[in-house]
Amino acid sequence: MTYSSEKEDSFIAKFEGRFAEASEESPLTFAEATEIFAAYKALLRRMGRIAKISDSYQSEVKALVLELREAAANVKALKGFIPICASCKKVRNDDGYWKLLEQFIAENSDAMISHGLCPDCASNYRSLAQVFPPTPGRPAGETARLLDESDIEDPVIVRFLPTLNNQHFATTPLYGDFSLLFQKYVRLARRLKRIARISDSYQFQLQDLKTKFEHASHVDYLTALPNRLDMIARLEAEQARSLRHGRSFALIMADIDHFKGVNDRFGHDVGDQLLVTVARTLSGYLRKEDSCARWGGEEFLILLPETDEDEAQEVAERLRILTGNLALETGTSTIRTSISLGLTLYANGETIDSCIKRADDALYQAKNSGRNRSVFMGCEES
Ligand code: GH3
Ligand code: MG
Ligand code: MG
Repeated sequence: MTYSSEKEDSFIAKFEGRFAEASEESPLTFAEATEIFAAYKALLRRMGRIAKISDSYQSEVKALVLELREAAANVKALKGFIPICASCKKVRNDDGYWKLLEQFIAENSDAMISHGLCPDCASNYRSLAQVFPPTPGRPAGETARLLDESDIEDPVIVRFLPTLNNQHFATTPLYGDFSLLFQKYVRLARRLKRIARISDSYQFQLQDLKTKFEHASHVDYLTALPNRLDMIARLEAEQARSLRHGRSFALIMADIDHFKGVNDRFGHDVGDQLLVTVARTLSGYLRKEDSCARWGGEEFLILLPETDEDEAQEVAERLRILTGNLALETGTSTIRTSISLGLTLYANGETIDSCIKRADDALYQAKNSGRNRSVFMGCEES
């Protein structure tokens, strides 16, 4: 989009020529005429710049929308591999990410691709588009009446209004050209404002999308806990700290006992509620520096920085008891639950994966020895 056309240039040249021929008594001085030209040209340049920025926001938004569409197409293509319900065709809740994506697309795709105006804005634009020809011979003040409130905020318009309404000037041959230039300026200024508004709205949408993507990539939709990806980043940071300072950290893998039975007996929604309740209980007890992530379906991985075996066992026991005390009311029944926990300490120099595997092995032992208990496994035992 460009706003400096040959038509504009020839208009300006013509006006400059006519001004040079005009009588010396003209109330518009040469310096003044130069001033409004300069303002008009600056506005054209600004318009071009803003249009470019607006175009780039627009294309970024479009690219993001395309990405989302592609993601949706990928979901379709992956149908055989992701858990789609055989009956209602909705993505099942086995993995919180898909639910999040599904909801996100449902809630936002329309807003992102809509270029329409609301009725309020449309009528506002109609009133802005009113014609306001300051015809020679009209009484002073007429132009001001035809201008919009927001036009009056523009210093260039305010600066030249008195000249335009000067009765003496209105009788000179230059007046027609000048009033035309003035009108062009006002229209351009209005257009610029509108484009700036659109540009702002793209920027806002873009920011909003980016925030949502950012949030969605780190947080588990159902429980609002950090997700697996986020936990991996935390673990890597903790590993680096541990290697630097030689201080260990503890990992606890917690898994709800017989959770499938809750889904089977009370339905998936109640299962979800129980997941949220357990997630809150676990994260609510931990210290600010600890992290609790949703690692899998009904599995939570807890990271306790600078924690030794005794402290980790104390935390695990406390979490087990707190969860055991939960009573989820469904209206018709009270659901009680328990968790099993596998604990381990990070051994200096080992990989994150091997440490997680040990916590998993410890959890497996806790399950095998009757559930509702915690088992510690040191690195020499694995
Ligand atoms: P165990 O004591 O051995 O851990 O038995 P379990 O029944 O808890 O374990 P299992 O792995 O057999 O079942 C886990 C179930 O969790 C299966 C899956 O459908 C369910 N699940 C996974 N994610 C979600 C979810 O987001 N919401 C609900 N409601 N259920 C989920
Ligand atoms: Mg389980
Ligand atoms: Mg499990």
